[in-house]
Amino acid sequence: MEEARHFIGGEWCAASGGETIAVLDPSDGQPFTVLARGTAADIDAAVHAARRAFDGAWGAASAAERGRVLYRLSMLVAARQEELAQLEARDTGKPLKQARGDAAALARYFEFYAGAADKLHGETLPYQSGYTVLTIREPHGVTGHIVPWNYPMQIFGRSVGAALATGNACVVKPAEDACLSVLRVAELAAEAGLPVGALNIVTGYGHEAGAALARHPGIDHISFTGSPETGKLVTQMAAENHVPVTLELGGKSPQIVFADADLDAALPVLVSAIVQNAGQTCSAGSRVLIERAIYEPLLDRLGNAFQALRVGPSHADLDCGPLINAKQQQRVWDFLSDAQHDGIAMAAHGEVIPEAPESGFYQAPTLLRDVPAGHRLACDEVFGPVLAAMSFSDEDEALALANGTQYGLVAGIWTRDGARQMRLARRVRSGQVFINNYGAGGGVELPFGGVRHSGHGREKGFEALYGFTVLKTIAIRHG
Ligand code: NAD
Repeated sequence: MEEARHFIGGEWCAASGGETIAVLDPSDGQPFTVLARGTAADIDAAVHAARRAFDGAWGAASAAERGRVLYRLSMLVAARQEELAQLEARDTGKPLKQARGDAAALARYFEFYAGAADKLHGETLPYQSGYTVLTIREPHGVTGHIVPWNYPMQIFGRSVGAALATGNACVVKPAEDACLSVLRVAELAAEAGLPVGALNIVTGYGHEAGAALARHPGIDHISFTGSPETGKLVTQMAAENHVPVTLELGGKSPQIVFADADLDAALPVLVSAIVQNAGQTCSAGSRVLIERAIYEPLLDRLGNAFQALRVGPSHADLDCGPLINAKQQQRVWDFLSDAQHDGIAMAAHGEVIPEAPESGFYQAPTLLRDVPAGHRLACDEVFGPVLAAMSFSDEDEALALANGTQYGLVAGIWTRDGARQMRLARRVRSGQVFINNYGAGGGVELPFGGVRHSGHGREKGFEALYGFTVLKTIAIRHG
C-alpha cells in the first residue's frame, strides 16, 4: 500500500519534517505502510487552511447546501462500504463483518447530519415591551477533532458530521495506530463537493501533532475521544486559549441482571457487549452484576458462551480480532496477572485459533467471577475482552455496585419489572441507560457521552449540534 500523507487544504502532503510512522497490521504485527509523522508546522498549515475555508466558501454555504454536501458524502461512503471495511479491518484488526457495520454507520452519520443541517434554529424570547429578542446558533469556527484507534470511522463520522453540518471547518488528528479509513473519507468528501480546506487531516503521534492541535490558538473547539489521562492533558492545553472541549473518555459500564429477566434475550447481548471490537469499546459492558438467586446458573451459561468464542485475524471474520498493538496487549495481560495474583477465578475463556499468526496481538475473551468491589478489575477500564462478574442481593446493592466506579458512560438493566426499570434508570449514574437491551445497535440518533471520569458534552444525535455551535443573543429595541 502506498505511503499515507496528510490531507491539508485539499492537497496530499508529506510531513514537513519528512518523517514517517510505520503502520502495523494487528493481525500479524507486520508493517504494511507508513504514515506522515505530523509536526506543529503541519497542524498550523491545516488550521490556516480551515480558517480560509471558514472565512470563504464553506462559511458562506447555506445550511441546505451543507446538508447536500453531507448527503452526497453519505452516498459515496455507502457505495464504498466494502473498500472502507477492508481498510478498517486491516488497520484495526477488527473482524470484517464488524468493519462493514462501522462503514455503514459512517454513511448513516453523514446521512443523519445531512438531514439535520437545516433543522437547527434559534428562538425568540419574551422580553420587555419595545424589544424583540432572538437567539441564533453559530458555528464555533475551526474545530479540532482528536480521534482514537478503536472506531476510527465511526468516531470521525459522529464528530466531523455534526461539526460540518453546523458550518465549522475541521482539523482532524486521527490515531497513529489506525487512520487509513479517515484519510480515504477525506478524499470522498472532496469528491462530494466539500470546499477545499473545510476538512483537513493531519496524521501523527498524540504528543506531537495531537498536542499541537490542542494548544493551537487558531482552534475554537476541541472534540476528544480517548483515555482519561490524555483527556486531562488536552483540556489543560485547550484551557490556555479558553477553548471549549467535549470529552468522551470511556467507562466501566455495568449490566445489571435481575432474576426475573429474560435470560435468553440477555445472554448473547451480555457476551457481545464485551467481545465486540475485542473489548476495545468505550461503552463496552465490562461488568455484569447478577442477582444472587441466578448467579451460578447465569455464570454457567456465560461460561459456555465464552468457551465457544473464537479469536483470529480480521480476514477470518470470527467473534473477535486481535487487540490494536503490543502495548494494549500488555495492558490486558497486566490486568489478568493482577487478577491471578489476587485469587480472582477465571470462570471461562475463549480460544485463539491455531492459524492466528504468533506475531499478532491476540487475547482470548475471559470471564472472571466473584470480582471484589473496589478491585482494579471492578473499577478500571481494561479495554480488552475481559468481563468481570459480581453478585448482588437487592436493588440498593446493585446500584451501589453500578455506581461504584469513577466512570459513568452507559448502563444496562435487565428486568421485567417496569417500576424497577425506571427506579434504577433514574438512579444509575451514566450518560445512557439501556433497559432489556444494550447499546441499541449503535444508535447514530441517540445522544452519547458520560458523566464524571467518562467525560462531558454530548456527541451523536441532534444534541451534538448544540455542542458544535455557540448561542448568540440579539436584542432589538424598536419601541
Ligand atoms: P490516547 O488517549 O492516548 O489516544 C487517543 C488519541 O489522543 C490518539 O489520536 C492520540 O494520538 C491522541 N493523543 C495522545 N496523546 C496526546 C496528547 N498529549 N495531546 C493530544 N492528543 C494526544 O489513548 P491510547 O494511548 O491510544 O490508549 C490508552 C488507553 O486509552 C486504552 O487502553 C483505553 O483504556 C483508553 N482509550 C479509550 C478510548 C475511548 O473510546 N474512550 C479510545 C482509545 C483508548
